Amino acid sequence: TSAHPPTATRTTCGYCGVGCALDVVTRNGEVTAVLPARDGPVNQGHACVKGRFAHGYLTSPERLTRPLLRRDGRLEAIGWDEALGEVARGLRKVIDTGGPDAVAAISSARATNEENYLVQKFMRVVVGTNNVDNCSRLCHSPSAAGLTASFGLSGGTDTFDDVERSDCLLVVGANPVEAHPVVGARLLRRVLHGAKLVVADPRAVGLALHADVHLRPRPGTNVALFHGLAHVLLAEGLADEGFLRERATGLPELAELLDDYPPDRVADLTGVPAADLVAAARLYGRARQPAIVYGLGVTEHLHGTDGVRSLANLAILRGAVGTDRGHGVNPLRGQNNVQGASDMGALPDLLPGYGKVTDPAVRSRAEAVWGAPVPARPGLRIPDMFAAARAGNLRALWVIGEDVCATDPDTNQVARALDTCPLVICNELFLSETARHADIVLPAASWLEKDGTFVNFDRRFQRVRPGVPPPGEARTDFEIVHAVATAMGIDIGCPTPAEALAECGRVAPVFAGLSHDRLERDGAIPWPCPDPGRPGEAKLYKERFATPDGRAHLAVSPYLPPGEQPDDDYPLILVTGRRWAHYNSGSMTRRGGNLTLDPIDFLDLNPDDALRYEVHDGLPLIVESRHGRARLIARVSEQTAPGQVFCSFHFPASGVNRLTSDHADTVTSCPEYKVTAVRVAVP
Ligand code: SF4
Repeated sequence: TSAHPPTATRTTCGYCGVGCALDVVTRNGEVTAVLPARDGPVNQGHACVKGRFAHGYLTSPERLTRPLLRRDGRLEAIGWDEALGEVARGLRKVIDTGGPDAVAAISSARATNEENYLVQKFMRVVVGTNNVDNCSRLCHSPSAAGLTASFGLSGGTDTFDDVERSDCLLVVGANPVEAHPVVGARLLRRVLHGAKLVVADPRAVGLALHADVHLRPRPGTNVALFHGLAHVLLAEGLADEGFLRERATGLPELAELLDDYPPDRVADLTGVPAADLVAAARLYGRARQPAIVYGLGVTEHLHGTDGVRSLANLAILRGAVGTDRGHGVNPLRGQNNVQGASDMGALPDLLPGYGKVTDPAVRSRAEAVWGAPVPARPGLRIPDMFAAARAGNLRALWVIGEDVCATDPDTNQVARALDTCPLVICNELFLSETARHADIVLPAASWLEKDGTFVNFDRRFQRVRPGVPPPGEARTDFEIVHAVATAMGIDIGCPTPAEALAECGRVAPVFAGLSHDRLERDGAIPWPCPDPGRPGEAKLYKERFATPDGRAHLAVSPYLPPGEQPDDDYPLILVTGRRWAHYNSGSMTRRGGNLTLDPIDFLDLNPDDALRYEVHDGLPLIVESRHGRARLIARVSEQTAPGQVFCSFHFPASGVNRLTSDHADTVTSCPEYKVTAVRVAVP
């Protein structure tokens, strides 16, 4: 019946980092449709199959609706009062016996900015440790480190509207047609209107079909590829000498390094033909306003930060960043709020707004707002938390919205860490792989049930509004963190999300001009936004770079090989990534209509390899690495290069992340998901 007319609530998509504005249509308390907003600042009336159709999970009978407590090895439903008492007593006991650094928390992009702000404040003020990290550790932490070192701030340099004005797009290590479909469509539209396109990716991703040049480097050789492109820019006089003289540093040192990367040598290192390399460099080097867009194919490597910085070198050499002669360097963030989780200081070494915890001036500003001391010693990163748990040094871990047992690398070791840790608390929508290892599971609200803000991949704050209430007794992460602090006898402040964002602006001047009221009035606002009377900065560095000397810094990092190479025992390189209908561990997209679009996980093999291993479409396979074993179904695909295989991580039952290694970026500890040596066998 239509007891109530339908209502529409404007919110921001909780899947990928594009940040599409969506209108959630509800009737009688249930979501009946999710529609792309015509006036959405990024999506302009479009949305993809995830944002539009993957909302059936809201009413899944598998949703957690009551807290769970492990008793005699089994998780049993209990009430909130008992659950909060157990959490508070457990944390207090660990702090009293092991000290604050025996506790850690993993926050995530599933949480709003306000929730991430509250989580890091809880850890620093209530617990007294910097042991807080978020899932950007596993994806774009090399972007934050690399872009900060090159330009001064951790975000992308330009807006997507700028990128779409470019006459030459260099898309590297990204498959936006599937992973960020609305951006993929906008890039394609630009190419169809005449922009040149260079795609650098080992796979023949969707955009590669439309590329003027498709570079297919062997996985793990990005730094050599970028140096090869830079070598050609310098050798052919395509660098912007005036920009380099006035606004950059490091050219003599880089030029000396690049002498070692002529196209023929780079062809040997990467497998990319020298002629293709030269053609790509000329397209980028001769364009009027080139732009770089990149994804996890750049960051998820042993030398991911070197990759980001070497890629940024190209924009600096061309004077195509911070000027009207180009549209910079722009990471495509994988998850909805992975930018915001880091912006809010859910990081072991940085406070909200990226001030270092080791800096006394930064700490004292936060201490003045919080009325409590902030620990000066940087905390543990996510992989170090697991290692500390396995070693018996970490005795309580709170995981908020991240299925670490499905999505982190070498998941056998992650599970062992959780099983060793005496107290594991987990905020979750479903009984995920991680929740199965927890001692206390707290039922959480999803993005369609929350109030707050997200930051998308081009640094825009946008409002998140609840279309429906959470089911049963489930609560938002904001409410849960508050309730735990109260149960521990501490008033953490920030009674509402709006007040949390306002307080964040007092801790981090870069956000001081933002407020919920302003976002209601003005719509999306990019950061930096220090002044409530002025718009945020959409394009960065027009006057000066945010580095201490105000200049862009060219990086001088030699190419170093990846952590694993194929050999006789493990002759194939596995690359993992996303497919179009699903999102991350698939916990939401697999519980609804999207499962009929993309029902199982496949291992893509090149036809040559399929012939060699006598494999055909649909054949069940065992895939083995040095770290573990997974089961997948074969799919023969020209998209994948000979000697390489590809699969997603959307189906935890396949066990794909049992295969991946613990090799990680030497600067940020981001896992090397993109290079794992494997073999396949028919069971
Ligand atoms: Fe937009 Fe990404 Fe959501 Fe798709 S998943 S609707 S592209 S924000």
